[in-house]
Amino acid sequence: MGKINKYANKPLDKDYFKKKENPNWDKGKKLTECCKQDIDHEVLNVKNEHDWELIENYIQKQLMEYSNTKSITPVACTVCGRLIEYSCVLYDSKRRV
Ligand SMILES: [Zn+2]
Repeated sequence: MGKINKYANKPLDKDYFKKKENPNWDKGKKLTECCKQDIDHEVLNVKNEHDWELIENYIQKQLMEYSNTKSITPVACTVCGRLIEYSCVLYDSKRRV
């Protein structure tokens, strides 16, 4: 009779399988050092030309669709280039610009 696997009766999560694939995988290193983003989370990167095109297209579409949007800043990490968020500036609806 073999030993019962030590992971029996334990919840297996994504971390478990990552560790299985890569024994050196360190649970603590889930966030990028520069911008504290989840490294497993695939995001657009402003260093990538194709991604930048997608970002531009997205912003252009937003500007066309929402006439009260003045500008949109693609906020990205200046070290690794990961896109963190879009920061919108709206026209002041009370004041005519
Ligand atoms: Zn970064």
